[in-house]
Amino acid sequence: MKVLVINAGSSSLKYQLLDTDTQDVLAKGLCERIGIDGKFTYKAPGKETIDAVDTPMPTHNEAIQAVLNALIDPANGVISSMDEIDAVGHRVVHGGETFNRSVKIDDKVMAAIEECNPLAPLHNPANIIGIKACQALMPNTPMVAVFDTAFHQTMPSVAYTYALPYEYYENDKVRRYGFHGTSHKYVAQRAADMLGKPIESLKLISCHLGNGSSVTAVKNGKSVDTSMGFTPLAGVPMGTRSGDLDAGILEYLMNKHGMDIKEMLNVLNKKSGVQGVSGVSSDFRDLSKAAGEGNKRAALALDMFSYGVKKYIGAYAAAMGGVDAIIFTAGVGENDAGQRMAIASGLEFMGVKMDPDANNVRGHEAIISAIDSKVKVLLIPTNEELMIALDTAALV
Ligand code: AMP
Repeated sequence: MKVLVINAGSSSLKYQLLDTDTQDVLAKGLCERIGIDGKFTYKAPGKETIDAVDTPMPTHNEAIQAVLNALIDPANGVISSMDEIDAVGHRVVHGGETFNRSVKIDDKVMAAIEECNPLAPLHNPANIIGIKACQALMPNTPMVAVFDTAFHQTMPSVAYTYALPYEYYENDKVRRYGFHGTSHKYVAQRAADMLGKPIESLKLISCHLGNGSSVTAVKNGKSVDTSMGFTPLAGVPMGTRSGDLDAGILEYLMNKHGMDIKEMLNVLNKKSGVQGVSGVSSDFRDLSKAAGEGNKRAALALDMFSYGVKKYIGAYAAAMGGVDAIIFTAGVGENDAGQRMAIASGLEFMGVKMDPDANNVRGHEAIISAIDSKVKVLLIPTNEELMIALDTAALV
């Protein structure tokens, strides 16, 4: 089955056309600066690449049209007509408590996604615009919504409830939702495949470490706790996000510097994390270079990151009563051997023993723990698009 996967943001749209039988990516690319001037990128194996070419995109409709035109282009396209697209899978950030799995989109589902908008005001409306643009151009093609939050809906109340007055949960839906669910679900299943054991028998800790990072406890195939919370601001320190912090700091800093809540949140989301501590960069490559050259704040930021992830691993091993495997994925998890080593070292007491040579890899599936390590440590590149495509194919 050929599935078009769409990840729509407010001014950008990522796309991939996948064959779910072979799991091959037939074509992929990006529409950027939608509503501004419009840039279009397209890549397909064996075809001419289109690299950020000016393409007018006043709205998402023109962006989707540009994608379809490229896919069916006689010279560089990969399909002969739009009818070859069997289904479209849409990434949707927030499904609230309404969606605990992917769903086929109809009017009722659209209304329910819109009801989740207040929970993700920056993301869900853009996802909805992407869905509507596809519906307008492909009215007869089935569409599926795949939610970042859905995998975490199995968390027990003890993990998702905040110690706030209970009315805020009951009336205002304030609770831990968690994000990166599609990624955690994908790598957890791959881990079970790599270990040759049913996922229902495993206790896994999945570390999705990228620009945004989250750690998830996956017990018997189900998410039972995760480090991100009501929003993706919580958990470990990230590229530019603070992660967990004492809420009392907000009032103190807002009073001291005359900031309103919007300015404060801008600091927490965009100016904090390893970028804020180091003053160098949010990119771990830049931080490693700076630390290597003696920059103490860059070294501190890197140490705070690995320490933060390590603490979550300890907490989730306790929460699950043990752990069979720890998974590293996403930009940092897949590429940064130093961070993986720093996170996993010192965990020998709980049966984690790394193999430094095996850990010296990048970007492909590998067991990076020592043969005699009780807890296996795995590197698994994430593939959210494939997961979305497979969910979509299964539903249509
Ligand atoms: P993601 O959000 O999963 O795309 O991850 C992006 C982040 O991965 C970047 O900001 C970098 O910090 C990190 N990253 C990518 N490649 C490398 C690398 N070779 N070494 C260390 N970090 C990397």
